[in-house]
Amino acid sequence: MAALARSVLVTGSNRGIGLELVRQLAASPRPPQHIFATCRDPEGPRGKALQELAAQHPSIKLVQLDAVNLPSIRGAVRAVGSHLKDQGLNLLINNAGVSSHATLRSLDSREMLSAFATNVVGPVQVTKEFLPLLEKAAKGVGKEGLSCSRAAVINISTKLGSIGLCLKVPEAPMYPYRASKAAQNMVTRCMAAELQDKGILCVAIHPGWVKTDMGTEKAPLMVEHSVQGILTVLANLSQDTSGAFLDWEGNTLPW
Ligand code: NDP
Repeated sequence: MAALARSVLVTGSNRGIGLELVRQLAASPRPPQHIFATCRDPEGPRGKALQELAAQHPSIKLVQLDAVNLPSIRGAVRAVGSHLKDQGLNLLINNAGVSSHATLRSLDSREMLSAFATNVVGPVQVTKEFLPLLEKAAKGVGKEGLSCSRAAVINISTKLGSIGLCLKVPEAPMYPYRASKAAQNMVTRCMAAELQDKGILCVAIHPGWVKTDMGTEKAPLMVEHSVQGILTVLANLSQDTSGAFLDWEGNTLPW
């Protein structure tokens, strides 16, 4: 089987789903040549698991990237560009995110704006700044149609952001989280429509309810299982699924 993509960048890859994405990509039979594992503090104690993983796999390059800090994003673009030399970036996975359990009664504007900063402005700014490298990859020789091996932006979303489903609001109101992920979904749809002609695929993926710091121990799904599913879905994305909202098993979700 061919590699999913020659180069992949994952945001928020020091723990949870992001770390497992990097782990499984690096351990795959045909790993990407470049795996840019980005996080806020790759050298610090919060990056320890990632540092240990990178020590075992030369394909993993640690890059500092705070998704809400423009100079940090631009520094990451420069670092990635210098590794890739004259090649572009094939696959950008906007995974970094924050949750919030605020209810209508408890929420304050700061919490709401903070969720929007990370979950909406973050992926938009990261994609905007990496666009020249994605466009370069999309123009690569012999590339046609849409796929992750050509050029793609994957936004890790959640079913809780689906307006169509509006799941379990009384039990888990989570206004800042749901509203920011619904806005992120709109961003994905807009990007898919705008970037299709440039050869760049855009999709939103719900990873399932996963045992991570965010998903908590109560979650039914192991992170390994979720990420296996996500990577299988990514390998099968095409022109037909660009602009879709899919879950980790490939099922289509209502926006
Ligand atoms: P975790 O809380 O385990 O990890 C979140 C990651 O995002 C951490 O690496 C964190 O870094 C990073 N992050 C947060 N803010 C920023 C920022 N400003 N810049 C860069 N990185 C940042 O969450 P999960 O792994 O569970 O979630 C990953 C994605 O999956 C999120 O987008 C989430 O909304 C989505 N999701 C998760 C579900 C679940 O059940 N777990 C369900 C549905 C969706 P740091 O260590 O520095 O804080």
